[in-house]
Amino acid sequence: MDIRIGNGYDVHALAPGLPMYLGGVQIPSEIGFVAHSDGDVAIHALCDAILGALALGDIGHLFPDSDPAYKGIDSKILLGKVVALASKKGWKLGNADITIALQAPKLAPHIGLMRSTLASVIGCSPDRVSVKATTTERLGFVGRGEGCEVWATAVLVKTE
Ligand code: MG
Repeated sequence: MDIRIGNGYDVHALAPGLPMYLGGVQIPSEIGFVAHSDGDVAIHALCDAILGALALGDIGHLFPDSDPAYKGIDSKILLGKVVALASKKGWKLGNADITIALQAPKLAPHIGLMRSTLASVIGCSPDRVSVKATTTERLGFVGRGEGCEVWATAVLVKTE
């Protein structure tokens, strides 16, 4: 069996009055992400993990933030494009594991919807998509509520 593994990492700054999208879900919050796209830092890390597994670069390269076409774009569209690219090259997602570090709000109530939303964009079963959330015990920029940090790992399996 031919398999590949990739990792992805992304950070976005937080500011008052902006929407917060994580894992394709809008999270009720007074603060949200500063970004050119919708700021879905979890999807960005996942896209980079998939691209990394196939040595296809990163989303900043594929979808440059200097391109007005991506202004405010729903990151689920970017994930769909990345999955389509992998599929065209003969690869599908085996599984993905995402860890989100955010001080507040609490993400636990939204994890199930994030997993099913991501799985539906990818076209896989939700048991192949893990989303975990942690605080950083008030340490560092995450702990001070200045930003959100996400790590993602993806395993891709050759389809033919
Ligand atoms: Mg990003």
